[in-house]
Amino acid sequence: MIPSRRIKHCRVCGNPTDYRVPADDNRDRAICTSCGEIHYENPINVVGTVPYWGDQVLLCRRNIEPRRGLWTLPAGFLELGESTAAGAQRETDEEAGAHIELQGLFTVLNVVRAGQLHLYYLARLQDTVFAPGPETIEAQLFREDEIPWDEIAFRTVRETLLHYFADCRRGEFGVHAGDVS
Ligand SMILES: [Zn+2]
Repeated sequence: MIPSRRIKHCRVCGNPTDYRVPADDNRDRAICTSCGEIHYENPINVVGTVPYWGDQVLLCRRNIEPRRGLWTLPAGFLELGESTAAGAQRETDEEAGAHIELQGLFTVLNVVRAGQLHLYYLARLQDTVFAPGPETIEAQLFREDEIPWDEIAFRTVRETLLHYFADCRRGEFGVHAGDVS
């Protein structure tokens, strides 16, 4: 099933929309019943980082729903006017208050079921002074054998961490693309 955000009202004129297939198209779109505006819905981008310090990775315990109390890598929705790298840097600052040197793209994970695309960058921590924002209960460094695998908030975070520690063992870091159900 293709996720839809079920747009009920036109973003241009505020009148009700109706889902139907526009001319020369092949799928349902929310079309305004008054002005005819077609509202296209596309996957949302989530951007984040894998902040590392030696053999440790920085995780944040979520202070917001969904998955409050569980651990995540710093990540959030990409904003308009922002590059993916800038968004990853901003989320790391907002959620962990961590000082990082942003490095290469690390994982590209489709979450087709949720209509999302998650991108994680590697980020070298410059120090271990963290100042978590209101969305985070605490920010903490973990070695691989300390990772709370049963308390990870999202599948893409789990996948990214698995790739990270596998690459650490290999001694070589690549870009990992895949699908998460
Ligand atoms: Zn309209």
